[in-house]
Amino acid sequence: MHKYNLKPCPFCGGIAEFKLLAPSIFESNSDTAIYVECSNCKIRTKSVEKSIDYTAKEIVAEIWNTRKNTLVNGSNGIK
Ligand SMILES: [Zn+2]
Repeated sequence: MHKYNLKPCPFCGGIAEFKLLAPSIFESNSDTAIYVECSNCKIRTKSVEKSIDYTAKEIVAEIWNTRKNTLVNGSNGIK
């Protein structure tokens, strides 16, 4: 985890963390997915399938750090 430098939350300045998505949410054959979530306000990136772990972390870290994709509120579910 320390390999990837996550910037503070763009909305509240909170600490960002890698999270694992529960397998039951995914209907594909992948086991889990990973995403980045603010530990304070719970804003998050989309999830990326964790079949190739280090790459998935790189992807979600880049999404978080560059905000190239719209960050979503956790209560809105997966798009
Ligand atoms: Zn936040």
